Amino acid sequence: MEIITIIILVLIIIYLMFAIIKQKKTQSKDHSSVQQNLFNYFNYLLKYSNYNVIITDSKFKIIDVNDIAIKTYGYSKVELLNLYINDLRTPETISKIEEQYNIINSVGSYSFEAKHRKKDGSIFSVEISTYLIEVNNIKYYKNIVIDITARKTLEHQLLSEKYQLRTIIDASPASIWFKDTKNNFIRVNEAAAKIASKSVKEIEGKSTQEIFSVESDKYYVDDLEVINSGKPKLGIIESVTTENDVRWVRTDKIPWIDNNGNIAGVIAFALDITDYMHSVERIKMLAHAIKSVSECISITDMKDKIIFVNEAFMKTYGYSEEELIGNNIAIIRSKVFSKEAKNILTETLKGGWKGEIINKRKDGTEFPIYLSTSVIKDENENLIALIGVAADITEAKKSRDELIKAKEKAEEINRLKTSFLANMSHELRTPMIGILGFSEILREELNNPQHRDMIDTIITSSNRLLNTLNLLLDLSRIESSTEELNLNNLNISSTVEQIVKSFEGAVKRKNLFLKLTILDDKVSSYLDNRTFEGITNNLLNNAIKFTSKGGVEVFVLSEMINNKPFAVIKVADTGIGIPKESQQIIFEEFRQVSEGLNRMYDGSGLGLTITKKTVELMNGKISVGSTEGVGSTFTICFPASVTGNILPIEKAITTEQHLYNADKRINVLIVENDKTNREFMKMVLKKYYSVDETDDGKSAINLASQKNYAIIFMDIGLGLEMNGIQAAAEIRKISGYEKIPIVAVTAYAMESDKEFFLSQGLSYFLPKPFSKNDLLGLANQILDSN
Ligand code: ADP
Repeated sequence: MEIITIIILVLIIIYLMFAIIKQKKTQSKDHSSVQQNLFNYFNYLLKYSNYNVIITDSKFKIIDVNDIAIKTYGYSKVELLNLYINDLRTPETISKIEEQYNIINSVGSYSFEAKHRKKDGSIFSVEISTYLIEVNNIKYYKNIVIDITARKTLEHQLLSEKYQLRTIIDASPASIWFKDTKNNFIRVNEAAAKIASKSVKEIEGKSTQEIFSVESDKYYVDDLEVINSGKPKLGIIESVTTENDVRWVRTDKIPWIDNNGNIAGVIAFALDITDYMHSVERIKMLAHAIKSVSECISITDMKDKIIFVNEAFMKTYGYSEEELIGNNIAIIRSKVFSKEAKNILTETLKGGWKGEIINKRKDGTEFPIYLSTSVIKDENENLIALIGVAADITEAKKSRDELIKAKEKAEEINRLKTSFLANMSHELRTPMIGILGFSEILREELNNPQHRDMIDTIITSSNRLLNTLNLLLDLSRIESSTEELNLNNLNISSTVEQIVKSFEGAVKRKNLFLKLTILDDKVSSYLDNRTFEGITNNLLNNAIKFTSKGGVEVFVLSEMINNKPFAVIKVADTGIGIPKESQQIIFEEFRQVSEGLNRMYDGSGLGLTITKKTVELMNGKISVGSTEGVGSTFTICFPASVTGNILPIEKAITTEQHLYNADKRINVLIVENDKTNREFMKMVLKKYYSVDETDDGKSAINLASQKNYAIIFMDIGLGLEMNGIQAAAEIRKISGYEKIPIVAVTAYAMESDKEFFLSQGLSYFLPKPFSKNDLLGLANQILDSN
């Protein structure tokens, strides 16, 4: 283009020279005609230009255009010659005109880009080359206008492609970098910068050594391989050590070829696979764990095909991995298929199953397992496999069976022990009546003081024996949990008062005082009367036993403990006291303060053990406070159901003399097959009543049908033919005997026994052994209430 323009210009100059010469020659011709000729010549030249040519005067008014321009702009020539060149420009490119013409005027020509508008309003990009032409000092401008729309589009496309490429590189999650052959970073994207924990700016232009000091050389070896071979290297897995941590990347390196086809370096694409590597590690660890656990683990697909088994599984079932993988899991199932096992699949699909089943080894032997199953789901919650964890429980089952057997045996022994206890209770108590009862009777008959001493010793020894026997039985009962409590709302003060009174004789014998102080006479608690009496008796017994001067004081009071009311009973003595270190052990079985061969006090060491256990059975607590040589205070407390006024009442204890009303007109029948007992009862009763006796049920019925008895004392165990309950039932059938008191006399002395007898038509219950007073007291009570 430039050459053409220059040619045109040269031509124009030549022409002008000719014109000037001609003008000089034809001086007669006027100025305007010269000009006209000039333009005509322009026209001629314009015709042959391949571009739009627009000629303006110094005021930029279009004074000529070529045909190409007419075609381009869509105006007619006339229309164009009425326009200024600025009229063809879009408004935004007009502003620069002044600046552009200043250059043209000073330099002579200027090329610039602008936007022109056609007649139809369409706009197109142009490159304008404007030349200043001066003819006879008059300025003209010749504008050669080239449509550069296509070039602009191309430029735009190139730019946009460049931009897209940049965007792709920068936005790529993969790290991308360009390195030259000298191991320097030329261009890196954001992701690459992130791996290095740096910004793009901090990396570009730097050597690899500066950015990754640790692995720089290693990377360069790979780079050189690519540079030297001109071939890509793919799938390199390597670590990246940065200031903060170590990351893992998977890199593809390809040669970077420049415009001349030479290798300018490497282009690398890398993915950060740190998370993936960590999960791989985790999976490896889990796989290792599963492989090495002692439970047998199997994974099956949804068609029951085995897809995984661990070492333990293979070892336990005796198969190799090859024999199992791909096979149906049914090969390990036994034919002994329990009902439960049928639900395994259904239950597993619902979430899981746990239980015991029988499985089969490769050698055909069967063994029990504890199996727990569950499902494996994919990320979309679809079931993909089933997992089973099984433990061989052959040994566990064996020991469990043994344990069950042992437990059954222990229970059996316990049952035997209880029944043994019941029998012993019967067998030991019964003869005690003979010993104690006759001793008491004999005592009254003996006048020789020496004999009296002997009989007193027999009575004391028997009582001691009986007491020990009772304690042992109580303890056994508590331990075999057969102790039955009959809880009633018990008024504490009146109950304690009665008990305290019964110790009057004992304290008198030892020349001690006995005081009862009631601070709350209303306080009551839900307690078993008999057991409570046992507890209080024991405390009083001990207090008297371990006191030789002074005496014993009993307190009944109520107290708030943790905002709850309690009934409190204190038994305080002025006895020998208990050393601090022994205050806890005395509640243990068979423990005493003075033990061994030198012990100073007799006793079984069971009293406080039983007391503590029974106190606790009734939700109570027992404690002791004591100073050696000063005395001891035992305190028991039970949750109170009622409490009352707190008023000190001091009771003076007096012994109540039992008076039995003798009436020989009253007939009493004794049915008892144990001769000693029968004799004892007869001896006691005959003093006051008219007594008949027999040793079997049948003759008892006979006697009853012949005579009216006010009371029948009926032994329960009367031998094989007829027991006491059957005999009583028969007697009840005799007219007049429907309501006559029949007393169950028995060594079956437990509370439950009493209830049983009373429910079988017997009216009263007299447990063996009993004393003279017990027997007469009951007779008196019966006669009083009837
Ligand atoms: P036992 O009295 O039959 O030996 P206990 O279990 O009732 O059995 O009492 C255990 C021991 O506690 C007694 O041997 C005695 O050493 C001591 N002990 C109990 N009560 C008192 C007390 N009031 N004063 C002193 N020592 C006592």
